[in-house]
Amino acid sequence: MEISVKPQDLNWETLGFGYINTGKSFRAYYKDGKWDGGQVIEANTITISEASPAVHLGKQCFEGLKAYRTKDGSVNLFRVDENAKRLARSADQVMLPPYPEDAFVEAVKEIVRANEEWIPPYGTGATLYIRPFLIGVGDIVGVSPASEALFGIYVTPVGAYFKGGLQPAPFMVSEYDRAAPRGTGSAKVGGNYASSFKAGKEAQVNNFADSIFLDPATHTKIEEVGAANFFAITEDDVFVTPNHRQFYQVLQSTLYCI
Ligand SMILES: *Cc1c(COP(=O)(O)O)cnc(C)c1O
Repeated sequence: MEISVKPQDLNWETLGFGYINTGKSFRAYYKDGKWDGGQVIEANTITISEASPAVHLGKQCFEGLKAYRTKDGSVNLFRVDENAKRLARSADQVMLPPYPEDAFVEAVKEIVRANEEWIPPYGTGATLYIRPFLIGVGDIVGVSPASEALFGIYVTPVGAYFKGGLQPAPFMVSEYDRAAPRGTGSAKVGGNYASSFKAGKEAQVNNFADSIFLDPATHTKIEEVGAANFFAITEDDVFVTPNHRQFYQVLQSTLYCI
């Protein structure tokens, strides 16, 4: 397999948020009611049936986390067990076989170790982004749950998301809803993103950084900003973030967020 760049060719300080093939990924398969042991493979592609429910029915979910190099050179993951739990909850929502949580944590550690040379040095702002995903595969024509599934992880080194630190940016309140009440909003599934791109595009052509999504039931409260979580700190220093009980009230049609 061709790898176009080597870790030693990278400038960690100016690294962007793009995909770099590191040459090693993780794959595990679910068939006949059980997961195989999974393994590190030297490929960054997958071959699946054209009838895979991930392709037609959106039966998939994913996670995102990072490995951080510390001052003493060791490598840390932040609450990887919580990502394992959330992937299992997402899988349950779209009826995919959950990947066992312990195996998830081990797989993340294994793939990070296998890609050790790609973990950016401490102090550069860069990190190793880790993207676990779970997709329904196999030959499914009707609308039925997946009987086969693939769990994979790719990693790729990324630079700091906000390069010049935090800058004020204008956001536009979207006309579109992102996830219905009692829908898939609390699951980390690709469909929630697919339904957000049109709003994001509209915001950009109108010179906004991105779109704000309101709660679909009342359209009076902020639920999500683009592809990111939203929080606010009030004048009284209260941290406010959307959850099932409390939403941040929309005060005006254009908000300036940092
Ligand atoms: C993953 C995700 C986020 C970020 O959540 P983290 O807990 O920081 O990973 C925010 N919004 C949506 C819709 C997401 O899927």
